[in-house]
Amino acid sequence: MTLFISPSTASAPGANLADVFKGLGLNTLPPSLPHLLEEARLQQLSYEAFLHQVLSVELRGRQQRALEQRLRRARLPFPARLETFDFSFQPTVSERLIRELASLTFLQTATNVLLLGPPGVGKTHLACALALSALEAGYTALFTTLRQLAAAVLSPGPRGGMAALRSLSQPKLLVIDEVGYTRLTVEQASALFDLVATRYERGSIILTSNLSFAEWGSLLGDDVLATALLDRLLHHAEVISINGRSYRMRHRMLADQPTDKRADIRNHSQNKGNETSGAN
Ligand code: ADP
Ligand code: MG
Repeated sequence: MTLFISPSTASAPGANLADVFKGLGLNTLPPSLPHLLEEARLQQLSYEAFLHQVLSVELRGRQQRALEQRLRRARLPFPARLETFDFSFQPTVSERLIRELASLTFLQTATNVLLLGPPGVGKTHLACALALSALEAGYTALFTTLRQLAAAVLSPGPRGGMAALRSLSQPKLLVIDEVGYTRLTVEQASALFDLVATRYERGSIILTSNLSFAEWGSLLGDDVLATALLDRLLHHAEVISINGRSYRMRHRMLADQPTDKRADIRNHSQNKGNETSGAN
């Protein structure tokens, strides 16, 4: 038996346009339609140009909502951007390499990025900025600290254990921040190994740490496991060692300087502040 939908229910002229949009799931378009129609009349747009214009409005709206959803799910601690990173303050960071990473080819090759260095040098800032670029380019990303990861894999709740490991395996980019502040139990160390092994050659990890590789044995409580984990993590990886001053302590440094030097540093920070207003 062939079934027909009466034209009057769906698309007859005079049917409520809002209902047609609703039926098609077009949510962005309705509020801007009167304005678009008016513009089309004034500019005498062709049917094709008008169709292109209205559908583009809907498409942009959908892309924006999808980005907002990816951004919420990524749980970035702050929306840092490369534009607000003062490379002149941290000369051991290669701006060229960071900009190349921001082109995101590392995600296509499942290359990892390790940002190593003492507190305050901008590791989390750079990790978040790269994650934000990835989200804006349409990739999925998730930010976690090693402490949160370690707690999640031991949690008995429905989102803990294997479920936590699965959700950490899925995003195209996983950021694991602050590796080194939490010593892991045997179970947690083995979960971290499983995660790195699962993502190996499938999805990139950006990892930040204040530890040298020699200290990973004591982090995981097992030298053999640490070697096997680092082997996978470093096989396809960019390692960025930042040997610089803490950005958080820059005002303290200013106070410690003789008066004539203070003026130089202050001028430098102010110039940078103007260039990078909105930092963080
Ligand atoms: P880390 O993770 O290495 O401890 P963060 O990335 O958390 O350091 O940096 C500490 C604060 O200083 C953040 O608010 C960050 O945005 C800012 N910051 C660090 N380095 C720079 C820099 N070179 N330029 C601008 N802001 C920076
Ligand atoms: Mg940090």
